[in-house]
Amino acid sequence: MFRRIRSYCLFGIKAVPVSVEIDASQGLPGFTMVGLPDNAVRESRERVVSAIRSIDKVVTGFRTTVNLSPADLRKEGSALDLPLAIGLLVATGEIEVPQLENLVIVGELSLDGLLKPIRGALSIAMSLSEKSKNILVIPRANESEVSLVEGIRYVCADTLRECVEALEAGAENVARWATGFRFKNKSTITANDIPDFKNVVGMEGVKRALEVAAAGAHNFLLVGSPGAGKTLCAKCLPGILPEMTETEILETTRIHSCARTAGDSDEFKPVMTRPFRTPHHSASMVSLVGGGTRLKPGEASLAHNGVLFLDELPEFNRSVLEALREPMEEGSISVSRASGTVVWPARFMMGAAMNPCPCGYAMDPKRHCTCLPEARKRYQEKISGPLLDRIDIQVSVPPVDASQFASKASAEPSAEIRKRVCAARDIQRKRFKGTRFKTNAEMSSNFAKDSCNLSSATEKFAINAADRMNLSARGYYRLLKVGRTIADLRNSESVEIEDLSEALRYRAFRS
Ligand SMILES: [Zn+2]
Repeated sequence: MFRRIRSYCLFGIKAVPVSVEIDASQGLPGFTMVGLPDNAVRESRERVVSAIRSIDKVVTGFRTTVNLSPADLRKEGSALDLPLAIGLLVATGEIEVPQLENLVIVGELSLDGLLKPIRGALSIAMSLSEKSKNILVIPRANESEVSLVEGIRYVCADTLRECVEALEAGAENVARWATGFRFKNKSTITANDIPDFKNVVGMEGVKRALEVAAAGAHNFLLVGSPGAGKTLCAKCLPGILPEMTETEILETTRIHSCARTAGDSDEFKPVMTRPFRTPHHSASMVSLVGGGTRLKPGEASLAHNGVLFLDELPEFNRSVLEALREPMEEGSISVSRASGTVVWPARFMMGAAMNPCPCGYAMDPKRHCTCLPEARKRYQEKISGPLLDRIDIQVSVPPVDASQFASKASAEPSAEIRKRVCAARDIQRKRFKGTRFKTNAEMSSNFAKDSCNLSSATEKFAINAADRMNLSARGYYRLLKVGRTIADLRNSESVEIEDLSEALRYRAFRS
């Protein structure tokens, strides 16, 4: 008999429809698979036959041909195990499945018939959401992703046996509707493992700089001695950023769903708080921007809608850092492959921290810096001008006085700072309505100039300062953008001299 099963393959974060066509006929027993399968797909026959034996069915003894269509798309991964198993069972007449044409089946099988999760189930669910007739058949470990997409129906199972029973009973009768976000209550959204600014006593200047960075989504760089608290301050940042919208949660979870390890049955949680990714400085190009043989998204994409924090910035490989310029400008990363170009969203706030010199104590009044001036210069030159150019806020972090640790006083909690950040973001939302920008950091030079409403005296001040500090044209507009954010934080229509002088302080490097 000939049977066609509908399924999906992952290409980047896109889910591409694939049909698994199976023809099982009498004749010399054999098995042929055509249609550009990769090794994992080719090996699926062994897993599938063994899994089918575990439920006491037999599909061997036929002359079986499997075609994966469209034939010119390379089929990767193990998600085609389950459609192949169901297809073999119906084509050989072992089971009857009503309304097979409405089913979209994905899942990996183990030899004993357990269903294991696949990568990218959310992408598949999202591409099905428009057509309500479809029912998605998935491993139960993928349920938490799929249930986020309101309006789709799905059947999930832990084993091949459970899946076969459900399909024989009629998927229409057992399918569930995805609930979307209704089942999530607020408490799961506000994570409590983010450090709070109330525990960071002192360091008011750094906190203020991070508040400005958060309000305008500006990239930032913290320069200071080891142990000054740079990393701690940066880690508090997700606590003052606005909560993610439902669209943002879906976008980010979708990327993380593509990055999860297929077959890993650990519970997958939707990404409800802004990601804070901290790749190690030994990170390779592939792990940072994505790609590789399995085409997985990199750290830059996993930080989408959140923060990518690079500690010890000069220790990163220079070519790896340069690769970040594309996502910093475009908000996405494209990786070219023989089979086409994969585009991953990667819109993040970039944060970085570094020591002022190789020994780390150049800015410490109490310790002596032992570095030669050339060594210090070489160290700072590891960060290229163009990269530095894209970092709006650069602050030095002074060493903390030991007396401050002893004091019991607590500082302003993150929740209070977040209120001001959200208010500033609301102003920006109104400002950028109908444009392609979302935040002050993204706006174009012309837009920056127009939105600042500078008086002639203020403009003169800005131009003088730019002259004095030898700012490039880009540096000048960066100054205006940061000034715009500072003015938004105090809810002012126009940017004043006080805003610009604060913005001028946020350039420890003066590029
Ligand atoms: Zn030094």
